[in-house]
Amino acid sequence: MEQNNNPHTKVAFHTLGCKLNFSESSYIAKTFLEHGYEIVDFKDTADLYVVHSCTVTAIAEKKCRNLIRSLKTNHPDAKIAVIGCYSEIHPETLEVMPEVDFICGNFDKYDLINRYEKAIRQQPENDKTLFVPTFSSGDRTRSFLKVQDGCDYFCTYCAVPYARGRSRSNTIAETLKITREAINSGCREIVLTGVNVGDFGKHHGETFLQLIQAMDQIEWEGRFRLSSIEPELMSDETIDFVADSNRFMPHFHLPLQAGSDAVLEAMHRRYRTDLFAERVERIRQKLPLACIAVDVIAGFSTETDADFETAYRFIEKTDISYLHVFTYSERPETPAAKIANRVPVHLRRERSQQLQQLSEQKKTDFYRRNIGQTEQVLFEADQHKGMMFGFTRNYIRVATPYRKEWVNKTIDVPLEKMEDDVFLF
Ligand code: SF4
Repeated sequence: MEQNNNPHTKVAFHTLGCKLNFSESSYIAKTFLEHGYEIVDFKDTADLYVVHSCTVTAIAEKKCRNLIRSLKTNHPDAKIAVIGCYSEIHPETLEVMPEVDFICGNFDKYDLINRYEKAIRQQPENDKTLFVPTFSSGDRTRSFLKVQDGCDYFCTYCAVPYARGRSRSNTIAETLKITREAINSGCREIVLTGVNVGDFGKHHGETFLQLIQAMDQIEWEGRFRLSSIEPELMSDETIDFVADSNRFMPHFHLPLQAGSDAVLEAMHRRYRTDLFAERVERIRQKLPLACIAVDVIAGFSTETDADFETAYRFIEKTDISYLHVFTYSERPETPAAKIANRVPVHLRRERSQQLQQLSEQKKTDFYRRNIGQTEQVLFEADQHKGMMFGFTRNYIRVATPYRKEWVNKTIDVPLEKMEDDVFLF
């Protein structure tokens, strides 16, 4: 690739959506940096604004369009590139926006720099088998390392397999190489991310468990966290391995999506509530104080009042730490969007709020259960009103008066004084 002819060209990134997007934005920014561009804050004046988009809900897409319009109003001479899932799935809704100069989906976004330099709008051939390993490096403490992309499952509500293609990953050896690069960037915590991380290696005869076993052998002072893993892919061996590891944190993220078997079936999920409950029990047996975060969707089209009641009771009695609640919105390209009977929007929101409240209760209970423990907290650089923040191994937030020498350091903290969703130290 040619070196940039104009070293003063400024590029700014804004990332919406998931951790994978953050990881990839960081990588793409690095390609611009390496070619002589200057990366500036999104609030500053830039020549090129890159919006890394999300398609998870219709609201996310609307937010993205609003952002693009206000960008053009504030920076009429700048070029705007929209990349990522939204531009992959609905490029047609962006093509009609005169504000947008470049549209790159998930398979050609790594080529944005060439596109920008050639100033063409024609997209190259998509290669939905391309795997580009990335890690985020903007935040010195934590790096999101992409170990897997795409998904083979086609849950009926989900647009991601259409936006990101089939499951794929590098080999363990190649993944270890990029892990070392992430470590050398100075981070102290690496979060393994992907669309369906548990499927790592399935097309080249390796397993996710083998990957984390190999990562565990890397000599460094930092720690690893797992991101979301499908319940049926969270094996006993993986749970036992995390329980015995000093480097992998006792923090799990399990997508439940629906707490009623009838809705799980309509969603084409590959497990039922009994398997999910059994996975949670296994984690609790091995790691009684582990954080277990759970994704759930409120108001899926087939969810009756009785289904919701069943789901609420199931979640209430299952020993999880908190929920990420998503209000269901139809993605036009998915089979679920064709279901005629839909839950009215006001009811979806009501259910979402009820689950949100349940999540807050669960989080408070989880935090309370940790009172009296002494935990290793990795403090981060951000400060707010003279306080700095960090997370325990099991993802409890701790605040303490700012001390520069504690940034990026792991400190033993007694968890005694709890205030809302943070412990004070
Ligand atoms: S497993 Fe996850 S990414 Fe794959 S289709 Fe289902 S919800 Fe979407």
